[in-house]
Amino acid sequence: MKYECDLIRDVAPLYKDGALSENGAAAVKEHLSGCKDCRTYYDSVSNEPAPVLEDSAETKRDVSLGKRITVYRAWQLGTFFTAAAAMFTMIFPWFGYPGITEIKGVSVLGNPFALTGVVLFTTAVWYNFKASRHRRICGLTGIGLWLFFELYYFLTIPMGYSVGISWGPINIDIPCFERFSIIESLQNALPAFYAGIASTAAAGIVFYLFVKNTALDMT
Ligand SMILES: [Zn+2]
Repeated sequence: MKYECDLIRDVAPLYKDGALSENGAAAVKEHLSGCKDCRTYYDSVSNEPAPVLEDSAETKRDVSLGKRITVYRAWQLGTFFTAAAAMFTMIFPWFGYPGITEIKGVSVLGNPFALTGVVLFTTAVWYNFKASRHRRICGLTGIGLWLFFELYYFLTIPMGYSVGISWGPINIDIPCFERFSIIESLQNALPAFYAGIASTAAAGIVFYLFVKNTALDMT
């Protein structure tokens, strides 16, 4: 901005004398309409008042900022509801596997790592980060942990393939690699498990697009 102001002030005398090209003159006029400091400067070096565009650039900037905030809110809510849908699939009794693992869906959220993922992701959606890069790192780490533990449960829970440690509401399953079988996991996983994975992945994609399309970094 400062650099642009310097440029405008350098060419202000040329503008006053009508020596600028059509495009150059339009650029100066637009800048003077939106920049109070340069307008004051122009007035001080010129006998005539600084030109003003009818639809001032400042008004335009306000309108576009308002529009951006609306778009930002829409993306934020969309991301939140996609993530809520993903969490919702995990509380269904048919999230995990038949038999003893039917209630395991809930314990994905009882896993401290998966829970950390959900907390990081929720923070990334609602906290106003100064840099969109930080928001992206926080949210993608969160969704990564969350997805990783859905897959981890998928591979380790069925038929007692894992050794569970329960401590209050916290459940940690340690995989038992001797009986590790992707084929059996695929055969035994209940439908909502796939819905859970798909909706979690969708939340990650929507989040990525949210950050990409609404970056409000001013630098
Ligand atoms: Zn300026």
